[in-house]
Amino acid sequence: MNEECVFCRIVAGELHSDMVYQDKDFVAFRDISPQAPKHVLVVPRAHIKSLADLTEAQEGLAGRLLFLAKKLAEKEGISANGYRVVINCGSDGGQVVPHLHLHLLGGRKLSGRLG
Ligand code: 5GP
Ligand code: ZN
Repeated sequence: MNEECVFCRIVAGELHSDMVYQDKDFVAFRDISPQAPKHVLVVPRAHIKSLADLTEAQEGLAGRLLFLAKKLAEKEGISANGYRVVINCGSDGGQVVPHLHLHLLGGRKLSGRLG
């Protein structure tokens, strides 16, 4: 755990969040500043700074992160109409919180393209 990391503090239960899912490797909670009616952050418990910092040994974790997004989309009721998953990586990618996370967005027709 990184004491200065807001998502590590949420994972540890030190900061409150609107949690929607937890297992031994991941947590998922609602974004504090939702960009869509459904906006869930899917976060590995381990403090991995970004997608760029993933190691080959963590390949399975990356696969499970994506599959979990699919499952949570179903749970949130947005799977039939569609949704978007986003991982911002680093400065040019617009990443603000330096702890790997996946955005799951849905519940409305999403506009905008890819940058
Ligand atoms: P990034 O730009 O790093 O991909 O996205 C970080 C996201 O984390 C933003 O959408 C922001 O609203 C969300 N966020 C930042 N701090 C908190 C927090 O303390 N609680 C929750 N639930 N979301 C947060
Ligand atoms: Zn962290």
